[in-house]
Amino acid sequence: MSTPRTRTGTQTSALATSLGGIRGVLFDIDDTLVDLEFAMTAALRDVSEHLLPGLDAAGWEKFGRIFTRETTHFYDRYLTGELSFNEQRLLRGRAALGHFGVELEEGEQAHHWVSSYASRQHGYIRAFDDVTPVLDALDSAGIPFGAVSNNVHDYQRVKLDAAGLERIAVLVGTDTVGAAKPDPAIYLEGVRRLGTGAGETLYVGDNRLLDAEGSTAAGLLGVWLNRGGEPAQDFAGREVGSLLELLELLELLA
Ligand SMILES: [Mg+2]
Repeated sequence: MSTPRTRTGTQTSALATSLGGIRGVLFDIDDTLVDLEFAMTAALRDVSEHLLPGLDAAGWEKFGRIFTRETTHFYDRYLTGELSFNEQRLLRGRAALGHFGVELEEGEQAHHWVSSYASRQHGYIRAFDDVTPVLDALDSAGIPFGAVSNNVHDYQRVKLDAAGLERIAVLVGTDTVGAAKPDPAIYLEGVRRLGTGAGETLYVGDNRLLDAEGSTAAGLLGVWLNRGGEPAQDFAGREVGSLLELLELLELLA
């Protein structure tokens, strides 16, 4: 699914130069280390198939897209404390189902849908293939790493462990210092826990705004992980198409 980006030699060497002297690496979790979109989409279909009999492949794709990408404003309302985690999930589910004319009944049906979704999604959690080689290389190079995420610590701890990423010991969630990205405090807590300086710490994530630009504004070296090769006309920051590409830049693969 990821498309290698074409890059000019000048861009690559400028990027490599700016990444010299890295002493620590912090990662976003969802859709950076863990393929959350896959888990969400698969679980969503499992728990909704009986409500949408006969929906074709394009329909399921649209259904998944509404839930994972087009309703993130509900997640923002969770981050501000206005909605609970399950409330935002249910609103996203209702939006996706509603697009196809299906309405979940309040009470038992809605509750069952959300709880089934949660357990199914957990079962589908997996790390991207490029995570282990990167963490191995960082370990070999003696570069500490950790994760900083816009979800609460305990939920993300369970998720990392389910993905086989118990080795990521440093984990900062939104409840760790009471701040969410792009508040500088959350990235800086990750830096503090690594014992590095902000200016020598990479922050890598799939969200251009919250990960690359937010961390850079906090004084870290933000890198946008653009797995899907999304065009980004207005983005002048550091960008990689995969975590292996990040390793090449760090020259740790040799
Ligand atoms: Mg993410």
